Amino acid sequence: MKYDAIVVGAGLAGLVAAAELADANKRVLLLDQEPESSMGGQAWWSFGGLFLVDSPEQRRMGIKDSPELAWQDWQGAAGFDKHEDEDYWGMKWARAYVDFAAGEKREWLAKQGVKFFPVVGWAERGGYLAEEHGNSVPRFHIVWGTGPGIVKPFENRVRESMKRGTIIYQPRHQVTELLCSQGMIVGVSGNILVESQVNRGEASSRDIKDQFAYYAQAIIITSGGIGGNIDLIKENWPQRLGNPPKNMISGVPAHVDGKMLHVTEKAGGRIVNRDRMWHYTEGIKNWNPIWHKHGIRILPGPSSIWLDATGKRFPAPNFPGFDTLGTLEAIQATGYDYSWFILTEKIIEKEFALSGSEQNPDLTEKSIKKVLSRILPGPTAPVKAFMEKAKISS
Ligand SMILES: Cc1cc2nc3c(=O)[nH]c(=O)nc-3n(C[C@H](O)[C@H](O)[C@H](O)COP(=O)(O)OP(=O)(O)OC[C@H]3O[C@@H](n4cnc5c(N)ncnc54)[C@H](O)[C@@H]3O)c2cc1C
Repeated sequence: MKYDAIVVGAGLAGLVAAAELADANKRVLLLDQEPESSMGGQAWWSFGGLFLVDSPEQRRMGIKDSPELAWQDWQGAAGFDKHEDEDYWGMKWARAYVDFAAGEKREWLAKQGVKFFPVVGWAERGGYLAEEHGNSVPRFHIVWGTGPGIVKPFENRVRESMKRGTIIYQPRHQVTELLCSQGMIVGVSGNILVESQVNRGEASSRDIKDQFAYYAQAIIITSGGIGGNIDLIKENWPQRLGNPPKNMISGVPAHVDGKMLHVTEKAGGRIVNRDRMWHYTEGIKNWNPIWHKHGIRILPGPSSIWLDATGKRFPAPNFPGFDTLGTLEAIQATGYDYSWFILTEKIIEKEFALSGSEQNPDLTEKSIKKVLSRILPGPTAPVKAFMEKAKISS
């Protein structure tokens, strides 16, 4: 067999898997439907906020964290309720990840040159009782260089292995089938798509120029989620959230199409917890979109007033930045799919930020001078551009 492993998807998960396999002397085929310009997938666009537990950054800020506290928070947020069934492996994975985040993760990343901004953010506070949803302490460690800063080290490792010939990277290869023999998955097949010159994140064509089939002892699927496929989101919408909103915007590029999940299921893969999806309610339409219905997430502080469509204040703890799914449930219960998020210019100046690498050029470019300019009066340039040009959306 030509390859030891095939990795489907060259997002961050695929790059990490391929780089680690190649360093363990395995021959890897890395396939992606997108052109090379989109290598790194969603993570490149991300804010690069990483989950670390009891880190030096937290300790310097006087935050007391521990693996036990993080595990309690994780269980509260996940709401595992099918211990011997759908949640069995999820729980094992989550426990191992908490230990990783409290242990070797930071050093492993540091060895690859990943550094962190010294201020730890507090995403998803929850605001309920101790054993319920939310991070009880700040754990959102922002990578110096944001999304591109976390993609780069792994992309570099993959490119080094490509030079050595231990990773073969094939963009424009869309997997449409997992090949099965004697009850085992032995390969992948699909379409070779026509070349595309689109820029990173832009939708590329799905025109087909040829077919392919490759075989390997191990197949790893790292194809991302379903966030770019609004039909699939609606199809899997959890009942507890009422009807799906008529209007949705998308925080991810079109390649996050979820189609590989169906391909995997058809080949016997078990998709679990398909109704446990994550949505941000504090979203606004990007005035300068890169992909269709491009939405940007507001990273809010707690001071804004948040009212439902009829003008009633949402009940605690549906405050900005506390529990996005709880707030979504509250919004949907009103029968309207929008809400009013009201804040003054002073609040914007003090505690309003936008998620995403391109919305934080100072951190993305690793410019200390530009970061320091945040203390000057007035909003950052990307926030100012939104104030002047954006349309608010639910
Ligand atoms: C704006 C933004 C901000 C974010 N901020 C944060 C943050 O601060 N912290 C955090 O932890 N997370 C954040 N996220 C989420 C995080 O970036 C993603 O969860 C993560 O990058 C997903 O990586 P992935 O490799 O699993 O999937 P993806 O990046 O989606 O990569 C999957 C790849 O698989 C390819 N693919 C799919 N189907 C096929 C197929 N059939 N054949 C071949 N190739 C296929 C796709 O083209 C894609 O390149 C953010 C995301 C965005 C968009």
